[in-house]
Order: sequence, then C-alpha cells, then structure tokens
Amino acid sequence: MDRSDIEFDAKHIWHPYTSMSQPIPAYPIVAAQGAELIMANGKKLVDGMSSWWATIHGCNHSVLNQAAIDQINQMSHVMFGGITHPPAISLCRKLVTITPEPLECVFLADSGSVAVEVALKMALQYWQAKGEKRQRILTLRHGYHGDTFGAMAVCDPDNSMHGLYKGYLPPHIFVDAPQCGFYDEWDQRDLAPLEQQLAKNHREIAAIILEPIVQGAGGMRFYHPEYLKGVRILCDQYGILLIADEIATGFGRTGKLFACHHADISPDIMCLGKALTGGYMTLSATITTRHVAETISNGDAGCFMHGPTFMGNPLACAVANASLKLLLDSPWQQTIANIEQQLMAELMPLASYSSVQDVRVLGAIGVIEMKQPVNTAALQKVFVEAGVWIRPFGKLIYVMPPYIITPEQLSKITSAMRMVLN
Ligand SMILES: *Cc1c(COP(=O)(O)O)cnc(C)c1O
Repeated sequence: MDRSDIEFDAKHIWHPYTSMSQPIPAYPIVAAQGAELIMANGKKLVDGMSSWWATIHGCNHSVLNQAAIDQINQMSHVMFGGITHPPAISLCRKLVTITPEPLECVFLADSGSVAVEVALKMALQYWQAKGEKRQRILTLRHGYHGDTFGAMAVCDPDNSMHGLYKGYLPPHIFVDAPQCGFYDEWDQRDLAPLEQQLAKNHREIAAIILEPIVQGAGGMRFYHPEYLKGVRILCDQYGILLIADEIATGFGRTGKLFACHHADISPDIMCLGKALTGGYMTLSATITTRHVAETISNGDAGCFMHGPTFMGNPLACAVANASLKLLLDSPWQQTIANIEQQLMAELMPLASYSSVQDVRVLGAIGVIEMKQPVNTAALQKVFVEAGVWIRPFGKLIYVMPPYIITPEQLSKITSAMRMVLN
C-alpha cells in the first residue's frame, strides 16, 4: 500500500459513520496475528477492540484457518432454499444446545442487523398469526440494535439516526434505561417506567427488545440482572414476547456464555452475531422457541417470510463451528475472569482523574466514560503511536480485547488509556 492507495481510499471509499468530504484518517493494516494488527509500515498494534466484539480468538488462528480451507475445498456456498448441508446442521445443533432451554428453532442470516430484522418480523408474524393486531415494539433508551430500518427504529431515539429519518421509522415505545448498575444494590423502582408503559399500552405491544445486561454502542452501560429478571416476569404476565439481542454480549464476553445467564432467564427470541464466527466472516442467527415458530407457521402465510441469498453460508458455518469448539473446549470462564480482574486492577484507579466521569468493567469489557466527548481522530493517533488499537466514540474510551490477549499486551492497552488521560 502506498500513498496513492491511502488517497484513493479517502476519496472514494466510505468508512463507518465517516464523512466523505472530511474523512478522519483510516490506518492501513495489512496483516494480523493473534491479538496484534500489523500496519503497512510493519508497526504492530495490540487490538483492544476485537474488531468490534468479533475476533475473540484473535486473528489468523490456525484452527479457524484450517476450518475455512477445508470447507472452501469442499463447497464454499450453496443456496439454502430446498438444500441443507453438514456445516449448517452441526452449527444449529450446537446453538440449540448452548442457548437457554426453550430456544430451539434457528434462522441463519448474514449480519447482526438482519438477525434483528428477522426477530422483529417473527414477533409481528407471531401476533398476526394469533389474529391480534400488535405492531409496536417496546425498548430501552440507550439501546443499539443495528443500522437497517427495522433495527434503527428500536435504537436510542436521541443518540442515533431517528432525527434524520423521521417519518420513515415506525414509532415504537421507549422507556428510560435501567439506572441500577450491574454491581449496585438492586432497587425495584428501576422497573417502574417499564411497568407503567406496559400497564398502559400492552395490548398494542408485540415484543420487548433489549440488549441483556450490557447496552453496547448506545453507551456501554452495565445494568442489574434483577432488571432483566423483572422484564421476563412482566413479559410473561402480559403475554408479550421478549427478544434478547446478544449480538455483542454472546459467547462469553460478559463472563457468562450469554448475558441472559446472569439473570437465569430465557428470551422468546435471541439474536446472535459478531463473535459467532470468531470474527472470520459475517454470520448471524436468530433463535426462537417451538411455540413461536409453530404459531408463525400455522398463520395465514404458512411460513416465515424471509430468506437471505447467503442464508446458512457453508463457509461461515464451518468457521463458526470451529470457533465455538475452540471456545467451549477452552477454560473460557477462567480466561475472561482473568481479563476482568486485570482490567479492574488497571482501569479502576483511573476513576480519580478529574476528566473521568466513571470507570466500569464487566467480563472482558473495560470502559472509561469521560465528562466531555473525546476527539476520536486525535485520540486514535495517540493510541496508534503508543502501539494499541482503540476506537473511542462520544464520551467513551472502551476496550473489549480478544480472549487470547496476554497480560503484557493487556497492560499495554490499559497503560495507553491511562496515558491519554494525562
Ligand atoms: C453490532 C450490533 C448489531 C448489528 O450487527 P451488524 O452485524 O453490525 O449488523 C445489533 N445489535 C447489537 C447489540 C450490536 O452490538
């Protein structure tokens, strides 16, 4: 990669949430190994982001590489309409086994946002099949569920794109996000806004969608497991479906295999993505109960109305199988507990800085919330110079490293975070 490539990139290629006229710099990465990204100039950066929650086993992992190579030599893709294949069957069998008990019908799609669209459509079709007109979704402020229209409509209405697309988005119902943090003493009043909305509007509400325990891109907030338990009870009471968006939290990130396990609850529909293939390729899954699947299938449509071209892509499924095996055969609880302990020891003291609002750690997630919004481009430059890859946004400087990170590499990350506060 030379300068003209970088110039071409800046001039012609969109990057996420970035201006095309005043793009912030994009750093050239040409290879990656384990927890390190390797720049075009040879400089190595310790990856604090797991490429957005995805590369839990690090990059260029020999087992995942082999799974991809074996599958590509066998069959990289085949349509899923009227055809099935071993990689999809073993993946779905595994997902049914490891997700909470009544979840057993798996829909495979190609990205997290699509998994959310599928979940919302399942909820709508469920009520249509039951002969009830329920088309509103209830959700929490500070939520994030993806960038497609259905998903956007349930993202936080203030810190997202709602304003831009007013009129296009179905008006859903938002309640204040829980205030009790994960480690706080539980206060039952936290559920009051939700209880009030349900009492008033439950006949219109098809489902509640939320990110269990960790609200990710909408603010990196960790809330109390009792809140999630309370939501489950309320959903049962009113006969409303509960959709758990575990796209960011799934596969051990919060210290449990799924964040729902913190509250010992099971949703009616669960969305998975991001780390599903260990970050090798894009794949997502929406898993529901036999009851929901059968109700939908017995409705007028006679089926669920969705079918992505790359549904059940064998290559992605094969790598997902290998990634899940790697994770489940490893002492992942201990690994994540160790990362959590180190993040706590090295980040918590930073709470005393006057520019810092709050520091919080859960599982392999560490967050510094600043009092003022940060300059992403400027901070990123400092981080790259310090040999780490961290992408702050808003007031948040946060990390979720790959599980294979060494204590030395993790210290390099936390030292860089401390350095930018100075
Ligand atoms: C990232 C994310 C999504 C969207 O996934 P994409 O693969 O980016 O479409 C949805 N929900 C949550 C909680 C996420 O973190």
